[in-house]
Amino acid sequence: MSEFDAIFVGAGHNSLACAAHLSLKGWKTAVFERSATIGGAVRTAEYTLPGFRHDFGAMNLSLFAGSAFHRKYANELKSHGLEFAQVADCFASAFPDGKWFGVSNDLEKTAARLAAFSAADVATWRRLVGAFPGEAEHLFRLLGSPMSPRALAGTAWNLWRKKGIGGALETGRLLLSSPRAWLEDNFETPHVQTTLAAWGMHLDFAPDIAGGAVFPYLESMANQSFGMVLGKGGADTIIRALVGMVKAAGGKVMAGAEVAEITVAGGRATGVRLASGDFHVASKAVIAGVAPKALTGKLLPEGSGDAGFDAAMKKFRHAPGTMMIHLALDDLPDWSAGAELRHFAYVHLAPSLDAMSRTYQQAMAGTLPDQPVLVVGQPTAVDPSRAPEGKHVLWVQVRMLPAEILGDAAGKIAPGSWDAVKDAYAERVLDIIESYAPCLRQKILGRAIFSPLDLERENPNLVGGDQICGSHHLAQNFLFRPARGFARWNTPVGNLYLTGAATWPGAGTGAGSGFMLAQQLGGN
Ligand SMILES: Cc1cc2nc3c(=O)[nH]c(=O)nc-3n(C[C@H](O)[C@H](O)[C@H](O)COP(=O)(O)OP(=O)(O)OC[C@H]3O[C@@H](n4cnc5c(N)ncnc54)[C@H](O)[C@@H]3O)c2cc1C
Repeated sequence: MSEFDAIFVGAGHNSLACAAHLSLKGWKTAVFERSATIGGAVRTAEYTLPGFRHDFGAMNLSLFAGSAFHRKYANELKSHGLEFAQVADCFASAFPDGKWFGVSNDLEKTAARLAAFSAADVATWRRLVGAFPGEAEHLFRLLGSPMSPRALAGTAWNLWRKKGIGGALETGRLLLSSPRAWLEDNFETPHVQTTLAAWGMHLDFAPDIAGGAVFPYLESMANQSFGMVLGKGGADTIIRALVGMVKAAGGKVMAGAEVAEITVAGGRATGVRLASGDFHVASKAVIAGVAPKALTGKLLPEGSGDAGFDAAMKKFRHAPGTMMIHLALDDLPDWSAGAELRHFAYVHLAPSLDAMSRTYQQAMAGTLPDQPVLVVGQPTAVDPSRAPEGKHVLWVQVRMLPAEILGDAAGKIAPGSWDAVKDAYAERVLDIIESYAPCLRQKILGRAIFSPLDLERENPNLVGGDQICGSHHLAQNFLFRPARGFARWNTPVGNLYLTGAATWPGAGTGAGSGFMLAQQLGGN
């Protein structure tokens, strides 16, 4: 038995960022991770063939690069090996009619591509990009502040002071709009609307879901203004650097150490019991980077003592799942829409707003989508160090899929477990890619497929393969993430806190949840 100030359940990047800050503040910390590999959804490994490094989950590290944590600790992270690869050609979409549109960090390049569709859309793009710094100040402040009435009032006051009542209401309207409403208000070309709307599908914002417009808006403007950032050699560069920081500050990070129970006495968390039977004591905090459903009846066998909280954790809503297909390739895909697509970090394959809405609805109804949205990541187009010379890896994210399969919208795959279905479904995905990039299969040297069930096996926070650990719809975001009254990482159990994607400010590699909690506990 050892005694620590803070014990962390799970070594996702939020826990690690929190542990790093608290360790540097003098806290004695220990991070326990059930998996043999540290990093949760941010890991890199040779899943297919030796020498081919694949990002298991997150590939795009722009949120980490732009985070408050990175701003504060850039030097420390760098000294522990953090290295980024900067992307110029960020994201694009290829379409069934042979056209494509893409956003590069060079405004004139993007504008020239837009001009092929519509002069009005060029003008709108230039206007939005010009206004972005003024808008971003408020949105980033909102997303980077704790969910307290005081912080919210401060953001609203600043917004009103800088933009007046009309401007403030316009920002509010953007926050409430669906992707389709905002995109159709602003752009006239379906190809452009569709390219931007694909960002909503990285979360669970299909085109008609209220509150989703802000994600296509922020991603488009941020990619245009700052480009995108990948990890040099793999996304796990941030994990290795975070672990280095924690250890250098005296903290412990233990892999293969599953926490079976959070011990509680007198209404306060006192430590953890590992699956191995070992007990460890935490005098100031137990910080659980887990999915809400893992608490009551599991990590807290007796519950939290607050029936309302326990019910809310059980009812926490997960988003549809994801399948990941990792390919080792002889060469990048030959995109029929244009060879320039080979330079892009992401090529989205999502033909229209309606198709995306249908895909989401099919997944929600338990049906395998006939046409899933594909995010085809080409990390070696940016960072060749991830594969042997001249070879490539492809990172294919398949959105959105049901956790339990009740049927197939294409009527071809019999319902069954994901273990039984995943190979057939992966063939559907490859067929779709080949319809845009012929003969891809001939370039495949190796493949590794992770169904939604496999994702959950690798990381239990990805419930049903939900890559964002909980729906981000308005009723479960902001003051309601993970539940009303608990948006500040607090729980009804004294000294027990939640961190991670299920908590404010949600999924992604921005480390906001872990860092804001760390500052709340240990000061700035
Ligand atoms: C396929 C996929 C693609 C993604 N792509 C991107 C992207 O490109 N860009 C981006 O910004 N974001 C992306 N995301 C989202 C982002 O990666 C996650 O939101 C983020 O990494 C979650 O971090 P976290 O701190 O919540 O913890 P997680 O990464 O979920 O890690 C939690 C850890 O806790 C461990 N754990 C759970 N229970 C226990 C226990 N009882 N005992 C011990 N350990 C336990 C788990 O094993 C896991 O290692 C993606 C996610 C996935 C899955």
